[in-house]
Amino acid sequence: MKEELMMSVSGVRGIVGKSLTPSLLIRLAQAFGTLVGPGTVVVGRDTRLSGEMVKHAVFSGLISSGCEVIDIEICPTPTIQLMAKELKAKGGLAITASHNPIEWNALKFISSTGMFLNEKQAKKLFKIFNENSFRQVSWDGLKVGMTYPLAVRAHLKKIMDFLDVEKIRKKSFKVVVDCCNGAGSVISPALLRELGCFVVEVNTNTDGFFPRPPEPIPQNLGVLCSVVKATGSDIGFAHDSDADRLSIVSEKGIAVGEEMTLELAADYVLSKKKGIVVTNLSTSMAIDDIVKRHSGRLIRTKVGEINVTTQAKKYKAVIAGEGNGGVINPRIHYGRDGIATLGLILEYMASENKSISQLISRIPVYHIEKKKIQVARENIAPTIENIKNEYKDKKIDCTDGIKILMDHAWIHFRASGTEPVIRVIAEAKTKSQAEKLCNDGMKLVKKISQ
Ligand code: MG
Repeated sequence: MKEELMMSVSGVRGIVGKSLTPSLLIRLAQAFGTLVGPGTVVVGRDTRLSGEMVKHAVFSGLISSGCEVIDIEICPTPTIQLMAKELKAKGGLAITASHNPIEWNALKFISSTGMFLNEKQAKKLFKIFNENSFRQVSWDGLKVGMTYPLAVRAHLKKIMDFLDVEKIRKKSFKVVVDCCNGAGSVISPALLRELGCFVVEVNTNTDGFFPRPPEPIPQNLGVLCSVVKATGSDIGFAHDSDADRLSIVSEKGIAVGEEMTLELAADYVLSKKKGIVVTNLSTSMAIDDIVKRHSGRLIRTKVGEINVTTQAKKYKAVIAGEGNGGVINPRIHYGRDGIATLGLILEYMASENKSISQLISRIPVYHIEKKKIQVARENIAPTIENIKNEYKDKKIDCTDGIKILMDHAWIHFRASGTEPVIRVIAEAKTKSQAEKLCNDGMKLVKKISQ
């Protein structure tokens, strides 16, 4: 991976000590403090070793621009989002590079609504940053901040109020949870205990190091699968480093893939309340079938949490989310929340009195292949434009990159907002069809981008 700085609506990501330096972080925080104006800003971080350095640089920038920092320390991104809203702050900063490897870190910018900045707000932020037009207060305008240790408790309470806790407690589920030593470690095992589960913890030390790659995709969950099987547990859950995502391992010890989380959540929520579901363009077709089955309506958006949450709020969706395991429960807040989703899945099992495998068997089967290819930043946009020409006789959706729609299959090419890559995602009825489609797409990108 190149040592590049990624600046997009999803935040600013870089490699610590290379593209992500203290001076850059101070300027970014100054820009954010200037954007949101004087007032409180909630700051939390994931467990990465670099988190302390990033945090102190960010504090310096925020305080210098007249903001009062509320430090909620190690917390999942959804907790930070929720607290920005609940504490009526002017905004929030999540210090996490989410699924990126440990050498990366990042800032995700949160507005007073608890949602991420939208494209317009992000543009304004980067303009302030690029022009160095920071508000700078004098010594007597500096505000003393505070540490707020009750954030996790507040988030837990919000989730418990949303769930049918008694129903779940009655089942005394045996659950394995793998937090990748990330921020989920401070909350998910606690939630499971509150829900009356017998909890087996895997990778819940917040020591600053990740024992596996943080993305909760099947190839990274070997240990979790074996622990679920060895302990005879009912289910296994895995988070990424900031716990906005969740993926599931069945009682048979099978990692069922991160797409399944939203599918199960939507199947359950729609069975209780008909309504609108919002997801992004790269999420499995299974969701179309599920929504149809419950006579609901599906709205697809550009990839990226803020695009999904904006539409979810606008259309008052009953559930929303992305195929990467990020599920949004609008009754709690408009943000991907892997912790709340874990509770929702247990409630589904308890209400239906079924094993997770039985619930999974209700989900239509498709195969999705996700690949990525590194392309020089300046070639990314022209490459995507040229791909369009290659498929000009096909049905195309240009909402976000290029998505080519076929009968019971599709392929989607888009520039990543978090890495200098083009993502190629294909889905079809069979694994071999999906693989062929994805591999052909990768070859095409290679050919065009060189
Ligand atoms: Mg994440």
